[in-house]
Amino acid sequence: MQNCAPTQTPDVDIPALREKYLAERDKRLRPEGQKQYLEADNEFAEFYEGDPHMPVVPRQPITDDIEVVILGGGFCGLIAAHRLQQAGVTDFRIVELGGDFGGVWYWNRYPGIQIDSDAYCYLPLLEETGYMPKEKYSKGDECFEHAQRIGKHFGLYDNAIFHTLIRSLEWDDEIDRWQIRTNRGDEIRARFVVMAQGPYNRPKLPGIPGITDFKGHTFHTARWDYDYTGGDLHGGLDKIADKKIAIIGTGSSGVQAIPHLAQGAKHLTVFQRTPSYIFERANYPTDPEWVESLEPGWRAARQRNFHNAAFAFYNPGEPDLICDGWTEVARNMAAKLNETNGWAALADPAKFMELKEIEDYRSMERLRRRVDEIVEDPETAEKLKPYYRNMCKRPVFNDEYLPTFNRPNVTLVDVSGTKGVERITEKGIIVDGVEHEFDCIVFASGFEITTALERQFDIAPFAGREGTSLYDHWGKGFRTLHGIMAHGFPNHFATGFVQGGVTASTTLMFEQQADHIAYIIKEAQTRGATVVEPTAEAEEDWIQTVRTYSVDNSTFTTECTPGYYNSEGEPSGRSFLGDPFWGGFYELTELLENWRSTGKLEGLVLEK
Ligand code: NAP
Repeated sequence: MQNCAPTQTPDVDIPALREKYLAERDKRLRPEGQKQYLEADNEFAEFYEGDPHMPVVPRQPITDDIEVVILGGGFCGLIAAHRLQQAGVTDFRIVELGGDFGGVWYWNRYPGIQIDSDAYCYLPLLEETGYMPKEKYSKGDECFEHAQRIGKHFGLYDNAIFHTLIRSLEWDDEIDRWQIRTNRGDEIRARFVVMAQGPYNRPKLPGIPGITDFKGHTFHTARWDYDYTGGDLHGGLDKIADKKIAIIGTGSSGVQAIPHLAQGAKHLTVFQRTPSYIFERANYPTDPEWVESLEPGWRAARQRNFHNAAFAFYNPGEPDLICDGWTEVARNMAAKLNETNGWAALADPAKFMELKEIEDYRSMERLRRRVDEIVEDPETAEKLKPYYRNMCKRPVFNDEYLPTFNRPNVTLVDVSGTKGVERITEKGIIVDGVEHEFDCIVFASGFEITTALERQFDIAPFAGREGTSLYDHWGKGFRTLHGIMAHGFPNHFATGFVQGGVTASTTLMFEQQADHIAYIIKEAQTRGATVVEPTAEAEEDWIQTVRTYSVDNSTFTTECTPGYYNSEGEPSGRSFLGDPFWGGFYELTELLENWRSTGKLEGLVLEK
């Protein structure tokens, strides 16, 4: 594997840059915050519910009584299913909107799609399925195939209902089950419900005036239309050579698709509100010798090392095993501490933050200079430079994106001054009062992540005991036990970013949650209980525990340029990480394991 040296970063004038960052933020802040986005429902429902990858086969509605329904067949749902199987719970169904397993990797097949973080850490159940990723950053099809591999390996296809969207979830006290209705007319009564919908499941659209007026073609990156563009996720878009294409959005999805659109289209216009910060991709194939050298447990050690870089810090002498843009700031900081023999300074948290901030500013300046080195036109280069701190937005890794702006058939339009694209018309997009005509507009506008939960879940009603809505219960913030169960919502299990632990590999977080869920369901069954629910006191205790460890990072987030990472700059917005237990991811694992090891199910009430 590669040698992981610190990067060479330039000196910076931090106070001057801070001023610049704030000015760039202010330019983009919109009073509507999250509400600037349109939901993919009603006239826009196809942007979410339509499947361009596989025809939906008609079927009869299902009426069913079952033990467990897992909502979602992405990695989270697959991990939950695997853990239930391990616990001996086999009477479950996975209900999935897509036509196969994979979740985001089923839906997102836009050209250039590739993991942006270490595949050896991210792809789940590697040792269990005997699979090793082909390269450090897997392409989208490898991820999708791995989801299928998990499905086949553990025999999960027989448990799945595809092309099915859960519309409502209602707890029924009479039968101690959840009544579940779907878009296919199914009526399923499940004892337990595991929510594995994933954090990035539902596309959203920019609320641009005139969006419905456009008479040309449109689609969202998460529902790529290859019938229109030709090609596949590796590129080769051979049907758009005579087309003028516009793309709105330059986040992770936009950046990956843009080089391929540019290669295929007659002309590509990129509408950019905020530039992404682009690290070198520097992908490499998996080294067989390295694989040969791995000892059992290698993956857990690698994930912990990644966690240390992103959410804690290295121990003196600890190498950076990940060695990419995610770990650059921590790696550079550790190198300086080694040089100066300065590790003792980290005992002071304020000093730690100060040192980290310096490396953050230096690393971002390195990336701005990289833009100058690659992009030939200085004006275009300037527009492509990110002026905000590392982790204000999702880091992006790409070697083809910046050179794309040297192509004669590509135009970059900076719409930061108007806080986004001003207007869409029948024929195209208005820029500075001038209408530009396009054949197609691609929306790379992201997902319902920190918008209202009603929008993200798209399930209504979502009602617990006495018809109480989960959206009301969590209306003023999450209320859970262990980030998983909520009082008034018996037999219901949440996953993802709620009130749990966060780590650099999302799939590891799903594993932590699935272990806990499988244990509770199995215990309830073994003890003959039909209902398991946290008490109000246990829920309140967990909220207090979470508060005890809470970290005030509001200065950092409010100073960031808007995006979903900071709830579009809404000061009281929901963090994309939920309301995490900042006591530490591994500390939470230990806490949950200890809780389970007593066998007391403390804080839960069981009913027969
Ligand atoms: P995103 O990061 O939310 O980006 C949305 C883009 O649309 C932003 O550039 C945004 O500009 C722009 N936009 C929104 N409204 C606009 C308007 N009115 N006018 C002009 N531009 C507008 O969405 P995404 O790129 O799909 O990524 C979402 C997340 O999914 C990522 O952060 C990542 O976590 C995940 N993802 C991962 C991968 C991977 O691992 N390979 C790939 C794709 C996505 P502003 O920045 O100014 O808001």
